[in-house]
Amino acid sequence: MSPQPTLTLAVTKGRILGEALPLLARAGIVPTEDIAASRKLVFETQRPGVRILVLRGSDVPTYVQFGAADLGVAGKDMLLEHGGGEFYYEPIDLGIARCRLMTAGPIGGAPRSGRLRVATKYVNVARRYYAARGRQVDLVKLYGGMEVAPVIGLADEIVDIVDTGTTLTANRLEARELIADISSRLIVNKGALKTKFALIQPLLDGLRQVVGAAR
Ligand code: AMP
Repeated sequence: MSPQPTLTLAVTKGRILGEALPLLARAGIVPTEDIAASRKLVFETQRPGVRILVLRGSDVPTYVQFGAADLGVAGKDMLLEHGGGEFYYEPIDLGIARCRLMTAGPIGGAPRSGRLRVATKYVNVARRYYAARGRQVDLVKLYGGMEVAPVIGLADEIVDIVDTGTTLTANRLEARELIADISSRLIVNKGALKTKFALIQPLLDGLRQVVGAAR
């Protein structure tokens, strides 16, 4: 007998995982142990053959792109930045972890007309955004804490996630332009959808129902 095929679902750790787990539970996918209480990265679920992989958001699209995970849950910000969309479908907007990807600069600071220096971890998104507006920018890649960059003179603007705006205000910054409304999406490896259709389709149907009911 050939072994039972498995489905691997990569979920972004942190806030997205916290908001995704109740949705997954209502769709019948419940980890067999408490993910929050463990340092493991792979978790079996009560649904036979389905396991959950807990990853950094920026790694979720990479795992799905290469088929190491069949499905993923990641913020749209990570998908926009990753840019490997030809390898996966994005069939469901889960409607969780909503926020905005924005440009921001010092409060009251007049937006500069010349060449801008922009600090962000979203360098691909930022490059496309400013180029589409004909703005010349020098991008500074940071891995966190970009809110401090304009304050200490490393950059004129930042591109970052804004939720309540508290982080910006605390660093004497204000939001300027909206780049994209963000929420978490379910993504599916294109090859896996074909080869594991019988396993994936019911999972997608269940999640669609749960998300539809929540709206
Ligand atoms: P806030 O102070 O509420 O505007 O939150 C902004 C900070 O929280 C940002 O620096 C983000 O890194 C983080 N954050 C808030 N919501 C999200 C989200 N849905 N996805 C990723 N990061 C988020």
